[in-house]
Parts: sequence; structure tokens; C-alpha cells
Amino acid sequence: MASKEIPSDKLEEALKHLNSRQRMELDTCAHCALCAETCPAYFESKNLLHIPGVRSSKVSKLINQSLSRLRIFRGRLAEKNLEELAESAYNCTLCGRCMEACPFGFQTHELWVGVRGVLQDLEKTPSKVRMLSEMLDEFKNPYGLEAETRLDWVDYTGLEEAPVKDKSKIAYFVGCTTAFKGANQNIAYSISRVLDYLKEDWTLLGGEEWCCGSPLLLSGDEDKARDFAEHNTSIIEERGIETLVLGCAGCFRVFKWEYPKLLGRRPRFKVVHALEYINDRIREGALTPEKYPRRVAYHDPCELSRLGGVLKEPREILRKISSSYVELPEHGVDVRCCGGGGLLQAVNNDLRLNIVRHRLNQAISLKVEVLTSACPACKLAFADGVRDLDSSIEVLDITELVARQMGLA
Ligand code: SF4
Ligand code: SF4
Repeated sequence: MASKEIPSDKLEEALKHLNSRQRMELDTCAHCALCAETCPAYFESKNLLHIPGVRSSKVSKLINQSLSRLRIFRGRLAEKNLEELAESAYNCTLCGRCMEACPFGFQTHELWVGVRGVLQDLEKTPSKVRMLSEMLDEFKNPYGLEAETRLDWVDYTGLEEAPVKDKSKIAYFVGCTTAFKGANQNIAYSISRVLDYLKEDWTLLGGEEWCCGSPLLLSGDEDKARDFAEHNTSIIEERGIETLVLGCAGCFRVFKWEYPKLLGRRPRFKVVHALEYINDRIREGALTPEKYPRRVAYHDPCELSRLGGVLKEPREILRKISSSYVELPEHGVDVRCCGGGGLLQAVNNDLRLNIVRHRLNQAISLKVEVLTSACPACKLAFADGVRDLDSSIEVLDITELVARQMGLA
């Protein structure tokens, strides 16, 4: 059966999601497949389509089609190539580990996001990802929950002080995956308790907080993500906030590294992850958590470590608190993803679970008792993995551990 042809003007327009550096990267790709060895998605699926270098050859093929002067080459196989490209691009956690393996140092995270942008314009975004976008349109969160329920975690956790002020020095941006997911609400409680303990002039953003826009960026929808960036930035700046504290690795990366690009300027407030904030207070002696006797390990969230640049703070905190801290293999900038990123859960939850199982087994083989992280998506992934493996490992966010050892939570 003949493949459906993509109109060349539509293809050219869609390919504008790839800038000249990315086109050069695709052109230069040697298809050496060194990236395959490090890719957690390919490692688990063994599906050749999931190899990053195979993905790049599929995109190159699309570009060549758009450049071909011969109509016969322009349309042929376009649809099949596109279906395979969509399968490849969305069976990826966007962890960026292939970037570390690539001998040319290609910025693969940005490249794969650009490819998802191309797919969006060519109407090849998976339906479940499109649904997330519709939820965001209507509810400003990807879970389809009313905006006024964003602060319900305050009642659920029993937090006494939940300030929502017009002016403040510090704002705590809770993020959707912490505010709306019961398993993560203790993270919000713990960070709030620490801010209260330190008598900070701080506020929540309440129902006015919108999703940071991460799911939109991860599906290549920069234009819509910009609306979310503009909204969040303006409500924070209107409140005269000097420092924005975030407990979610994804929200942190988006505020710190993506908002300046989306807005074309730097927001007028400092963006810090809760672990950077807490580590500074421990160094100053304002926070003095008690020693923790159990065997603790830390999983670097990809968006905080490799893609976010925060590596030493969690380790400094844990080495202070724990008398038995153990480093996992494949950590730091080389961290093996937990499977929780890149919207993989919406597209292929079985693959996500296989990835998390692998990571969890690394901790189990080191006899880890408490596996910590610094991201609600990692916590959810590990909680699913622990259930799946019937493991006794406790999964905690470092902020929860700090609040616990301070007697605050
Ligand atoms: S490692 Fe780099 S050059 Fe080699 S196949 Fe992967 S993306 Fe291409
Ligand atoms: S970003 Fe991560 S999951 Fe995606 S291709 Fe690269 S290594 Fe694989």
C-alpha cells in the first residue's frame, strides 16, 4: 500500500522546530550507537527504534525529504518514517544521558524536544500526551483538577500555617506533582515546616500557581509553555519575591533554565531548589538535623543533576545527616534515569516500570534501606517500583528526611 504523503510546505514548517545547530548535529551523527549503551529506554526495551542514533537517522530522513527537489523522494515512505519517529521520540525519558555518551557532545535533550515539536506540527503527538495538553488548557495542571483544590494538601497534611500573601521575600512553588499527588504531599508539608521553623517571610502562590509548563515543553509546545511562563513569572514578580524555592527537579529546571529562553529575559527573582536552600541553612548552623542511623542512598533526578547542575548539595546534606551514606553506581551527571521523566508514563508505563526496576535493583544490591531523591516524579516512580518488587526499601525525598530529623514532620 502506498504511504500517505506529507505536504512539503507542512513538513518544512514543522522542521522549523530544529535550529541550525541541531540540523548540524543530525548531519554530523556518525550513527556509531555509543549512545545506545547508556540509554535506559533502549537498555530495557531492546527495540532498535529506541536507540538515540536511530532516531537521529529518522529525523535526517525527514529533513532530506523536505530538501529533495524530486517529488518522488519527497513524499515516499514519509508516513511510515514518521510513525517510527514518533514511536522512537516518545519511548524516551528525555533524561539526556545520551548527551554524555555522544563523542560529539550533541545537546540531545534539546534535540529530542525539538523533534517532539516537529511531531506535534505533523499531528503525531501520542493521544495521551495531547490529553495532558488539553487538561493544562482547562485546569492549568496536567491532572484535570480544579485550580482551587491546589491547596487541599494543606488540609490533608495538617499544616497549620499556609501563608498566601500579597508581598513576601520568599515564595515556595509547590508544583502539580507535589500538590495533587497524595504520596508527595508530605514533601510540601516538610518544606513548609522548614520555612516556618526558620521564621522566613514566605508565601505559597495558592490557586494562582499554574503548572510550570514542563509537560508542554516536553511535548515540544514552546508557544503554550510561554503562556505558562509569563503567568507564573508575573504573579511572582508582582509579589516582590526575591527568592523562589522549588522542591521539584522538573519545575526547578524549567524555571531556572527554560524560562529565560521562553521570556527572552531573566525573571527578577532568584531560583533555588529546596536542597540548595536547606544546604545553605545547614552550613550556617540554622538547621541542625539529627543523625540518621539507617543506610541511605541518593538517586540524582536527571533534571536536577545532569540537566539542572545541582549535584553537591544533596550529598553534603546526606553526609551530614547520615552515618551510613552509600553512593549508587551510575550517579551524578552519569545518573541512570528512574524512568519517571519525558512523559513516558503516559505513553509506555511498562517501559517506565522496567527502567525503575533496574534502578531500584541497584539500590537493593547495595543493601540500601532508604532511597532518597529530590523530585516528586522520582518518588512516584520508586514508590511504584517498590510495590512492584515487593521491596522493603523506604522511599523518601531529602526534604522529608531533613524535616523528620529536625522533628518537624
Ligand atoms: S553517540 Fe552521538 S554520533 Fe553516535 S549515534 Fe549517538 S548521537 Fe549519533
Ligand atoms: S534522553 Fe535518555 S531515554 Fe532518551 S534517548 Fe537519550 S538516553 Fe535514551
